[in-house]
Amino acid sequence: MSDDYLVKPGKKAKLDGRDPADTGGLKDEESARTQLADDIVAIDKLQDRLYAEGKRALLVILQGMDTSGKDGTVRGVFNQTGPLGVTVTAFKRPSEEELAHDFLWRAHLAAPKRGTIGIFNRSHYEDVLVVKVHKLVGAKEVDKRYDQINAFEKILTDNGVTILKFMLHISKKEQRERLQERLDDPKKHWKFNPGDLDDRKLWDDFQDAYETMLERCSTDHAPWRVIPADKKWARNAVIASVVRKTLEDLDPQYPKVTWDPKSFRVE
Ligand code: ADP
Repeated sequence: MSDDYLVKPGKKAKLDGRDPADTGGLKDEESARTQLADDIVAIDKLQDRLYAEGKRALLVILQGMDTSGKDGTVRGVFNQTGPLGVTVTAFKRPSEEELAHDFLWRAHLAAPKRGTIGIFNRSHYEDVLVVKVHKLVGAKEVDKRYDQINAFEKILTDNGVTILKFMLHISKKEQRERLQERLDDPKKHWKFNPGDLDDRKLWDDFQDAYETMLERCSTDHAPWRVIPADKKWARNAVIASVVRKTLEDLDPQYPKVTWDPKSFRVE
C-alpha cells in the first residue's frame, strides 16, 4: 500500500491527478482504525529497539497546506511512542537569530540524535514554499535551494538517519470546511489565523510550489510521498503503516552484552 504514494525521483508529482479523498487499499474507517491501533503499538516497540541500539535515527517530515492535519498526524501516529525517544519540532516563522544563519541551520540543529525519532512539523521545505510564494527571497536564491536541500538530506542519510517525507494532500474544498470549523467552534478559535485566508487566496501558487518541491526533492535517498489527507483516518493509517514498515526494515537490534548475566546476583 505504502508505495502507491511515492513520487518517483525526477518525475512530476501531478497533484491534480492525485485524489485527496483516496483511501488507498483501506477497506473502511473501522478496519483502518484497527490497523492504526496495531501499527502505533508496533511503532513504540520498534522505537524501543532503535533507542537501545543507539546507532541510527528516523526523521519524519510533515508538510501540507494549513489545516492539512500536520498536528493531527503527530497526535494520531505517535501517541503510543515513548516520549523519551521522540522529539517534535514545529518550524515557525524564523527568528532573527535563525535568519542570521543559512536556511538549513535550524533544521540541522533539530535533526534527531542516534536512537531517536525526530518529527518536523513543517520544515526546511518552508524555505521553498511560503518563502517562494510570498517572494521573501529572490527567485534565483530559491532555485538553488532544492539542490542544497538534497545535499543536506544526503549528509543526514549517509550518517544513519532514514528520512520519511509526507506531503499531506487536501482539497481546497476540505480546507474551506476545516477553516470554517475553526470559526464556528470556540474550542478551535485559537487555531484560526486570519493569515491563513490570505494564503488560501494563493492556493494555486502554493500547489505549484509544492509540485516543484516534489519534483526536485524526491530523491532515492529521501523520497517524497503524497498522502491523501481529506479523510483523517485514512491519512493516519497510511502514514503509520509506512513508519512501521520503515522501522521494521531498519530492524534495530538490542545490543549484545559482553558480560554473562548469570555471573551477577541481585541480593
Ligand atoms: P502552524 O500553522 O504550523 O500550526 P503557525 O500558525 O504558527 O503554526 O504557522 C507557522 C507559520 O510560520 C506558517 O505560516 C509558516 O508558513 C511560517 N513559516 C515557517 N517557516 C518559515 C520560513 N522559513 N519563512 C517564513 N515563514 C515560515
